[in-house]
Amino acid sequence: MNSKLYGNLIFELSKPGREGFSLPANEYGDYAVPEEMRRKDDAPLPECDEMTVVRHYTNHSGNNFGVNNGFYPLGSCTMKYNPVINEETANMAGFSDLHPLQPDCTSQGALAVYYHLQKSLAALTGLKEFTLNPFAGAHGELTGLMIIRSYHAERGDAKRTKVIVPDSAHGTNPASAAVCGLEVVEVRSTPEGVVDVEHLRTLLDDSIAGMMMTNPNTLGLFEPQIPEIAKMVHACGGLMYYDGANLNPMLGVSRPGDMGFDVMHINLHKTFSTPHGGGGPGSGPVGVREGLEHLLPRPKVVLNDGVYSVERDDKSIAVGAYLGNFAVAVRAYTYILSLGREHIKEVGPLATLNANYIKERLKDVYELPIDTICKHEFVFNGLKDKSTGVTTMDVAKRLLDYGFHAPTIYFPLLFHEALMIEPTENESLDTIDSFIDVMRQIAKEAAEEPDTVKNAPLRTPIGRVDDVLAAKHPILTYWQLLADKADNA
Ligand SMILES: *Cc1c(COP(=O)(O)O)cnc(C)c1O
Repeated sequence: MNSKLYGNLIFELSKPGREGFSLPANEYGDYAVPEEMRRKDDAPLPECDEMTVVRHYTNHSGNNFGVNNGFYPLGSCTMKYNPVINEETANMAGFSDLHPLQPDCTSQGALAVYYHLQKSLAALTGLKEFTLNPFAGAHGELTGLMIIRSYHAERGDAKRTKVIVPDSAHGTNPASAAVCGLEVVEVRSTPEGVVDVEHLRTLLDDSIAGMMMTNPNTLGLFEPQIPEIAKMVHACGGLMYYDGANLNPMLGVSRPGDMGFDVMHINLHKTFSTPHGGGGPGSGPVGVREGLEHLLPRPKVVLNDGVYSVERDDKSIAVGAYLGNFAVAVRAYTYILSLGREHIKEVGPLATLNANYIKERLKDVYELPIDTICKHEFVFNGLKDKSTGVTTMDVAKRLLDYGFHAPTIYFPLLFHEALMIEPTENESLDTIDSFIDVMRQIAKEAAEEPDTVKNAPLRTPIGRVDDVLAAKHPILTYWQLLADKADNA
């Protein structure tokens, strides 16, 4: 790629007077824009020919890293392969050209997808009914907590203002609770990395609205005490919330509804294979057990006498104007149908096998703080040999040089050098073996030539960025960049 011709910024390629378009003659006459609404100067837009624009963006797109480029073991994110058939169905004109407000009788197919996806999720989780309205996992958490609040309000119980969240929880859990106006009470983990039931016992009283749990938790561990925990929380009058972002290893194997959970969300963009990253698109359906269905948000899709329709209710909670992120629902439903009842059961065990295989083959060189069988992911606490000064950040950056996406780093917060690896079920043994080889190679480099690792990445278009500076002093426009350069000159 000729970086001078196809430069970093489209503005740098601009030549005054260059055009990449020609507009047809105006057939409609001139309509003056009122003077006060007119800009004083021309918009400072780059001026380029069409071919320059096409090459500029095409070459930049090649710098993206996605699941289709290489291994992407980003823990907690379930970066699984997004089958092309999902895209084909989501792009069918009958789905993609709809308007959310067109009459139900003209969108029966789309409503059928919603309806049957709701039913499929209920069957897979053992809960009674689902809404597809929330737009992400965190939005699902908020919706679920609003349902828990409505449950207590309906019973006239205003005392319950607190929600219990484990110290290993994803950051969205306490954030959602706070947005919902609930106070967060943190329950500790045991040295084995699961909820400390004895500590939990001391937190339970009639101020508790409910408890949020993630299972397997963010360390990738199955929480063995769930039945007892659910009994304790229910006995004090609270409800059990299941953060289902980690549903992948459980698919078709065990169901939150059978474990005693009352409300849960699912991340369709994780477990059900919709591409995500860069902030979207997402979908966080929320399910409830029998007896709580009436508290789900409206609008919802119902089926009566073979006809699908959208039910609205002004008194229900509302979390979005329409029925959620429809294209994500189409992809997820396609994924469920293409795997079918027979194969969906294989997802969890394969994801679990892949994670355990990597863990066992690397634990002699990376520190494994909790050495037990994991589910779909696990956490190392940096390199085993701490004398080299090579950090988890360095290892993550060096992986980029070898063509792998880095795992999640410095989360969960329980370990200082956390490195969280989630391979998903899709990877072949060859890919996983080559990842293991590279991780071992990096450990060797850390011992023999630590500066190579500390200066990584050395082979990517951009080297190590200063995360803090980028956050504190963001430069978001070309004009800001020029001003900044002038200031520093
Ligand atoms: C990803 C994740 C969430 C949040 O989901 P978003 O769709 O990113 O809002 C919540 N909990 C856990 C455990 C997660 O991994």
